[in-house]
Amino acid sequence: MGIIIDGKKLAQKIRTNLKIECEELKKKGINPKLAVILVGNDGASKVYVKNKSIACQEIGIEYEEYLLNEDINQEELINLIEKLNKQKDIHGILLQSPIPTHLDINQAFEAISPKKDVDGFNPINVGKLSLNQDTFVSCTPYGIMKMFEEYNIKLEGKNVTIIGRSNIVGKPLLQCCINKNATVTMCHSKTNNLEQYTKNADILIAAMGKAKFIKENMVKDGVVVIDVGINRGQDGKLTGDVDFENVEKKASYITPVPGGVGPMTIAILMNNVIKAAKQFNI
Ligand code: NAD
Repeated sequence: MGIIIDGKKLAQKIRTNLKIECEELKKKGINPKLAVILVGNDGASKVYVKNKSIACQEIGIEYEEYLLNEDINQEELINLIEKLNKQKDIHGILLQSPIPTHLDINQAFEAISPKKDVDGFNPINVGKLSLNQDTFVSCTPYGIMKMFEEYNIKLEGKNVTIIGRSNIVGKPLLQCCINKNATVTMCHSKTNNLEQYTKNADILIAAMGKAKFIKENMVKDGVVVIDVGINRGQDGKLTGDVDFENVEKKASYITPVPGGVGPMTIAILMNNVIKAAKQFNI
């Protein structure tokens, strides 16, 4: 039976520490503030944004929301980002994805000042991560690295298999693991014979969005399993990409869904806002 990595508890610990840091910044006259841009009416995005605002409130970070109409054009979106870039009282800017398909999200991420890019999606910050330089690291991957740290799981020399190559999870995670001297295999929907790579993994990270896809016969004994997937079943229940009940028996460590990676993502976003506020005023 594996040790269950408690993301909820670790996230709360990070949030408690950030609250203290935020109070100290305020004593110095620095008022950390996050601006969130939401375009259109995507239901899930509204929930995510709401959770971010609650986290800000708990820590003492000021929060400002910009709700834009579905039919806004690219120029209007970029103009808003540029206005927020210039505002000295705003330390972090977050553009909630997805945005309507007529808009160019890459151009929008590029427009966010790298100094305020708390999601770590600006190409300059992505490049810095690949050069192993200090930067804003995308929140989910960074949260996973914090879990490894907390549970003293060393990456050096380990075989890490990541399934999923998205820009927000898989690719930055690949860089994070390489930076920690792991040997990393990146799998995706076009990978042949996936099992060959999952079975070889000392650490397996599933970020594919396929409910209970990873079965016990796909992993080796003692594997560390990180389940990034969030899948909502017809019964409304959340499940990960891993068949938790069965894989857990073979794992040395495993994250649950919910209560694993999910809570870490928001905690790290808050961490990045505080980091931005500190750097902005140096
Ligand atoms: P995405 O849809 O952008 O990418 C999915 C990736 O999985 C792709 O690279 C695809 O090639 C790969 N994939 C899909 N089916 C596969 C298969 N059968 N075999 C091998 N690879 C396969 O997804 P994303 O945005 O990276 O999110 C992945 C999952 O993680 C989703 O369930 C999402 O909800 C979840 N997520 C969770 C958090 C969190 O905070 N816990 C954050 C971001 C995403």
